[in-house]
Amino acid sequence: MALKTLSDFEDGKFDGKRVLVRVDFNVSVSNGHVGEDYRIRMSIPTVEYLAKRGAKVILASHLGRPDGPDSDYTLAPVAKHLAGIVDRLMAVRFAGDCVGPAVETEVSKMNRGDILLLENLRFHKEEEANDSEFCKQLASVADIYVNDAFSTSHRRHASTYGAARLFDTRLAGFNLRKEVEYLSMMRESPPKPFKVVVGGVKIKDKIGALEHLLPKADKVIIGGAAAYTFLKAKGVKTGKSLIDHEHLPWVTKALDAYGDKIMLPTDHVAAVSPADTSISMVKGDIQDGMAGFDIGSETIERYSAEVAGTSGMIFWNGPMGMFEVRAFANGTVNIAKSMALAYWRGARTLVGGGDTLEAMKKSGVNESEVSHVSTGGGASLRYLAGDDMPGVSVLNGN
Ligand code: ADP
Ligand code: MG
Repeated sequence: MALKTLSDFEDGKFDGKRVLVRVDFNVSVSNGHVGEDYRIRMSIPTVEYLAKRGAKVILASHLGRPDGPDSDYTLAPVAKHLAGIVDRLMAVRFAGDCVGPAVETEVSKMNRGDILLLENLRFHKEEEANDSEFCKQLASVADIYVNDAFSTSHRRHASTYGAARLFDTRLAGFNLRKEVEYLSMMRESPPKPFKVVVGGVKIKDKIGALEHLLPKADKVIIGGAAAYTFLKAKGVKTGKSLIDHEHLPWVTKALDAYGDKIMLPTDHVAAVSPADTSISMVKGDIQDGMAGFDIGSETIERYSAEVAGTSGMIFWNGPMGMFEVRAFANGTVNIAKSMALAYWRGARTLVGGGDTLEAMKKSGVNESEVSHVSTGGGASLRYLAGDDMPGVSVLNGN
């Protein structure tokens, strides 16, 4: 299905219309101030596009996991932050709820080009329950629905699915469409050579995506804790490195079928514990009592060359080591820089995963040095695994 986005329509389509936009403003807020605001900045193209064309832009998001109304999870600071970064001619208001009279009053006061952020959707448990009455209320305040929150689109919630279905016109926001385009390209016909870099810890979350990507990829480069489960499956000694025993059988099968394209570390930065200051460089087997916390220098050299030299497409998910500790950050820093090099050389690069993004920035590589930054970590992996995405399939492009 080709998703329709805002620019596929005449400007007049949005003039004077109330447009409900599901955004992902699930950012970190402390003492009433927004921390990392990438998710808010990302929404700017969609929000401003609509406002400039005379729409009344109604934004809806969740923040955290509150059990009901809870002032710790209010989106009020986000509204304030948004007001500071949108075009200064645009008015940003905040509604004290996401449905009901408070919203209706605020919406009735909106002028063309105004922006209204609704209070946290999860203050109502009906949001996650996809309650039909709540869906009706949410949908009743707008004429057109836009989803620009790919990261929550694997969930069948009111704001991503139930309420969306009640609109005649259901469109993809700019971010969501870009994300789907990149992920579909990767899943169906990635530009070659196509390489996948996988690290981090959660093999379980990545298996579905790997099953789809392994047959397509020319190389699958494994680092992070994930590497030790692969090495163990090959009979290499891994000491007390993190092993995902539950998924050893799957890893063994993957190695049997695709062993020739799977790259594994041959040396490691090992220590007794992450806090241990006497680290050692280990080649091959890791002795009992020691754990691998980063890929070693020989592996870094091999992996960096493989990544930086890619001309087709690369997908990176999962840090190469416990990058939060300086002594174990080298592998990740080098991969981040090689990803940027590949991008400058013309490859299409995609980076996903909460920790991976944080690690990339810590490495001095910013979002403009990647073709696409995927903020929907879990959602992206599910999409790659071929799972149904209710929040995407509900979009009809009318
Ligand atoms: P993402 O959030 O990008 O999807 P994950 O959550 O799967 O990534 O993994 C990130 C975590 O993996 C980081 O906290 C990092 O410290 C940890 N990690 C990476 N390599 C190792 C390792 N060798 N041993 C222990 N933890 C590791
Ligand atoms: Mg993580």
